[in-house]
Amino acid sequence: MSMDKIEDDCLRPLNFIEEIIENDLKAGKNCQKVITRFPPEPNGYLHIGHAKSICLNFGLAAKYNGFCNLRFDDTNPSKEEKEFVDSIQKDVRWLGFDFTDRLFYASDYFEKFYDFAVYLIKKGKAYVCDLNSDQIRAFRGTLTEPGQNSPYRDRSVEDNLSLFLKMRDGQCLKGQSVLRAKIDMASSNLNMRDPVIYRIMPKPHHRSGDKWRIYPMYDFAHCISDSLEGITHSICTLEFENHRPLYDWFLEQLDVSCHPQQIEFARLNLTYTVMSKRKLQTLVEKKLVSGWDDPRMPTLAGLRRRGYTPLAISKFCERIGVAKTISTVDISLLEYFVREDLNRIAKRVMVVLSPLKVVITNYPQDQVEELDAVNNPEDESMGSRKILFSRELYIERDDFRENPPKKFFRLYPKGEVRLKHAYYITCEEVIKDDAGNLIQLNCRYDPQSRGGWSDDGRKVKGTLHWVSAKDAIKGEVRLYDHLFKVANPGASKDVDFCEELNPNSLEVLSDCLFESSLNEAKVTDHFQFLRQGYFCLDRVQATKGQLVFNRTVALRDSWAKIENSSKTQK
Ligand code: ATP
Ligand code: MG
Repeated sequence: MSMDKIEDDCLRPLNFIEEIIENDLKAGKNCQKVITRFPPEPNGYLHIGHAKSICLNFGLAAKYNGFCNLRFDDTNPSKEEKEFVDSIQKDVRWLGFDFTDRLFYASDYFEKFYDFAVYLIKKGKAYVCDLNSDQIRAFRGTLTEPGQNSPYRDRSVEDNLSLFLKMRDGQCLKGQSVLRAKIDMASSNLNMRDPVIYRIMPKPHHRSGDKWRIYPMYDFAHCISDSLEGITHSICTLEFENHRPLYDWFLEQLDVSCHPQQIEFARLNLTYTVMSKRKLQTLVEKKLVSGWDDPRMPTLAGLRRRGYTPLAISKFCERIGVAKTISTVDISLLEYFVREDLNRIAKRVMVVLSPLKVVITNYPQDQVEELDAVNNPEDESMGSRKILFSRELYIERDDFRENPPKKFFRLYPKGEVRLKHAYYITCEEVIKDDAGNLIQLNCRYDPQSRGGWSDDGRKVKGTLHWVSAKDAIKGEVRLYDHLFKVANPGASKDVDFCEELNPNSLEVLSDCLFESSLNEAKVTDHFQFLRQGYFCLDRVQATKGQLVFNRTVALRDSWAKIENSSKTQK
């Protein structure tokens, strides 16, 4: 499938969220405005699942001429950090979305949340409860049994106001005191059984400093933030479906003028990886990966470092669409979109991962010539470059067999191959060291085959990549495989997901030889190393002046194979 075909997907039928929005627009609801938001909690780096939500929220705003806010849901200072705030902004921008005038922090509403809580208390709809967390849990009941009222439920409004003030001022008698909404302990929805809305947490906040000792809970802060910002459609993942009655209850009780509509969709799950921030954090903390931006991580920072492009990610998100049912997407679909994009933009270069020396015995000792190498056969506008050819060069060790199996179209004794962009060569002699290890091939070249073509009609099947010994540069290449060895890591309760990591997810090749043009590589460049896959310079190692390339994705297009085989089965 080409990128054009992917563009056609924009002509797809409306998804269920677009249908809701279009009906609202037709009905003149929300003054015909569409305002969405992406509300990350800054307690980790964004991952590809977040990208789905970002593309959806910013995409809907763009499609319907509205706005999308980036709002930090930073109401829990025990887990949140400035590093995460910065990384999230960087990642959203990298995906191509602008939030310059639409950047918000829930922490900026702390005073307002407090006032709303006082408002609820005054209405008799909230109370200070001194049960500890275990007791609260025990009183909550179960799915089959109703809960029990807290003994503190009937405190007077005056008592509640003064106790809540004490909680705020840090004079609280008991650190366990919480403010709870007074709803219904017998509700069939557990979220409605007097949920906690404020808790004591004497922790400094990365934005408000020491000002607060109490912090609001997500369910309370989130709906109010949405309302304050005039959000029209509050789109979230399915696990919040059961929280929707609470979202609506708060906004009704608070008599706000803007009551956004919460809409849930299924979160993205991908095979061979995990997507929960808690699990990703565990991998980082246990040093099972090199950091949040380890190129094997499904984080946007990791994918960027690996060489994934924002376009590939957004095309992928568009393709998987939004639905109400949870499903797991095959990671090869994401890789497919990465290849599609890189095939367009990547410069083709030659790199030998495991070098074997070749001496062209009939090539003059001191001669060096420049050959033309086209940068991308798919795109003439990318031009061509000069590469040097001389008597000594390197080919891939794997491209030579002393005793070739059938259909081995590469190099073997007396066999002839084409060196890409250069000449035909024939292997004349195999040189080994005393221990019998292959160390060099002596070959002859055909001067008539310059550019890799000959007009005498002889067939040379194999084409090898190579680098010239004169100017090749040394460096490292890192090959990646799936982070986990099982398709659904963490699926079994009896197995620690860390045990399911793929021990071969990283292979480091440290004696690679690159063609000299790669000296000029920038971290934002993408390359196809001929016959090896797509690569990019590792941005972290590059800052240390080291030449390390990450393999973004191999050339093999397993998705196309899967698609083709399923087509032939039909
Ligand atoms: P955790 O991974 O610990 O469950 P979270 O991903 O929900 O946390 P948030 O920072 O609250 O963390 O997420 C911000 C937004 O991204 C939320 O609206 C959430 O619904 C959405 N989101 C998170 N994960 C996914 C996912 N896998 N697919 C789609 N949207 C997601
Ligand atoms: Mg969340």
